[in-house]
Amino acid sequence: MEKTLILLKPDAIQRRLLGKIIARFEEKGFQIVGMKMMLIPESMARKHYASHEGKDFFEPLVRYTTSSPVVVIVVKGKNAIEIVRKMMGATFGSKAEAGTIRGDYAVSNRFNLIHGSDSPSSAEKEITTFFTKEELLDYQPIDFSWVYDISEGDVV
Ligand code: UDP
Ligand code: MG
Repeated sequence: MEKTLILLKPDAIQRRLLGKIIARFEEKGFQIVGMKMMLIPESMARKHYASHEGKDFFEPLVRYTTSSPVVVIVVKGKNAIEIVRKMMGATFGSKAEAGTIRGDYAVSNRFNLIHGSDSPSSAEKEITTFFTKEELLDYQPIDFSWVYDISEGDVV
């Protein structure tokens, strides 16, 4: 089981798309193990996007991310990191495939609604940036044995 960090960026809240986006992850079969609403402090946005420091879109990206509240979510599931990235679609709303979150709801190449961790190491870093251990909840999802086939012992 893998955990990954999802940020529903300011435009997702302002455009009243939270419910629709969160529903996609619930319906896919992921378990939500952490969720909160916050205004990201500038220092945290700079840290979160540190790999983009120096690029021409870095400062506008920091302004965008800190401009209005976000919803931060941790979901758990098998191969969650890769699957969430697939569900988000390509970075640019203008290029994202129909059927993905960005492809269905975004046209902008910056205001693209959602962030998802892109590797196990960034997921671990990002989850600890946004959540304390106590804020991540361990509970048994009652449909687990219908979301996955666990009848042979493995999670398939
Ligand atoms: N971004 C931008 N201009 C660009 C590329 C990216 O404004 O040319 C923004 C966009 O909001 C994107 C974020 O910077 O989601 C981080 O970029 P990254 O390449 O990591 O894309 P992501 O991982 O979000 O798909
Ligand atoms: Mg990225």
